[in-house]
Amino acid sequence: QTYDVQYYVQHVYETVKRRNPNEHEFHQAVKEVFDSLLPVLVKHPQYVKQAILERIVEPERVISFRVPWVDDQGNVQVNRGFRVQFNSALGPYKGGLRFHPSVNASIIKFLGFEQIFKNALTGQPIGGGKGGSDFDPKGKSDGEIMRFSQSFMSELSNYIGPDIDVPAGDIGVGAKEIGYMFGQYKKMRGGFEAGVLTGKGIGYGGSLARKEATGYGTVYFVEEMIKDHGFSFAGSTVVVSGSGNVSIYAMEKAMQLGAKVVACSDSGGYVYDKNGIDLQTVKRLKEVERKRISEYVNEHPHAHYVQGCSGIWSVPCDIALPCATQNELDEAAATMLIANGVKAVGEGANMPSTLQAVHTFQEHGVLFAPAKAANAGGVSVSALEMAQNSTRLAWTFEEVDAKLYEIMKNIYRESIKAAELYEASGNLVVGANIAGFVKVADAMISHGV
Ligand code: GLU
Repeated sequence: QTYDVQYYVQHVYETVKRRNPNEHEFHQAVKEVFDSLLPVLVKHPQYVKQAILERIVEPERVISFRVPWVDDQGNVQVNRGFRVQFNSALGPYKGGLRFHPSVNASIIKFLGFEQIFKNALTGQPIGGGKGGSDFDPKGKSDGEIMRFSQSFMSELSNYIGPDIDVPAGDIGVGAKEIGYMFGQYKKMRGGFEAGVLTGKGIGYGGSLARKEATGYGTVYFVEEMIKDHGFSFAGSTVVVSGSGNVSIYAMEKAMQLGAKVVACSDSGGYVYDKNGIDLQTVKRLKEVERKRISEYVNEHPHAHYVQGCSGIWSVPCDIALPCATQNELDEAAATMLIANGVKAVGEGANMPSTLQAVHTFQEHGVLFAPAKAANAGGVSVSALEMAQNSTRLAWTFEEVDAKLYEIMKNIYRESIKAAELYEASGNLVVGANIAGFVKVADAMISHGV
């Protein structure tokens, strides 16, 4: 029977590859989840009978659209826009928008697929979706970003709404872009529907602690995991890749808990500061001036800047937090981290480790917190923002942060419990995949075919 189910899972995976040719990131995300599900499908044949696997890998709707806009020179530019409405079993589609030149159908689908299970793990009533564009905000003026965001929303507004699909930010989309998109949506609808987007500015319906939520949440999750193994952030040396929203607030919380963060990076290279990264400098360079991380050494001459972003994994540390982007940490990087004594890895970005890197960590007994559990803090507070918008209330920073902490602790406990139940004790990859999957699958069965 186990053999039959194994064969069946392989068959569905082959179908995914055939139907979505060349979408390597999407294949990778599906494989990672499928690899965990065998014992669940053996124990619960109704998931097979109800074709849950076949249904869950097929987005409910894929929207692809043209985004024309006028640059500062008066030239017309055209980008591609996407929104994948993947699964609405648990609530309105929910997930970020990514503006980055690497965006294509595969990237958006892998992110949307991950989002289904991540959102289920949060325990909040949200389905899974994702969107974005191959627009590159780097080097663009404010006016260009505004005109692009408005054009993007002119089309997207046909498909979203507070009870339908609620986008937020991701790489290249922060409060500024959300603000321009919200303004455009409001104009087109002729009404103030605060709950249509999350990650809004605090002054017009945003939630306190949303900005900090992904990074803080990752550290809360990893702290729970490592406490179970007798150590903590206090006194640990930490390396955090990236220097965007996730990375900055992961560094901040790790430091608050008593860690020393010695390195961070951007797409150009990494900085190593043996005295500990000065977060105020990174915040100013990245959040205000939008400059390169290489500038850090101008103000901290004792620190080193090294070109090339994957080099950061050669910096010795106790805890590594990949918070930049997908597949930034491969097998060679994992081997290097292990040789330098890494004890725990927590994924703040989406799918930052390759499948081989994850296996390498697990084979060598490195504690591993997978993205869909460890970075669920951002979307959790997005769901709390929706709750505040619905009730027309605004909670304090402390209230939101306390709820976030509880949610992350709960995701950790549920993942550990699911791993235990299916004889993969301590394996959080398997635990998170199963705990998320079961919630979505059961709701899909309740709703009929
Ligand atoms: N982009 C974030 C993520 O990957 C947040 C999504 C949201 O808040 O809807 O989960």
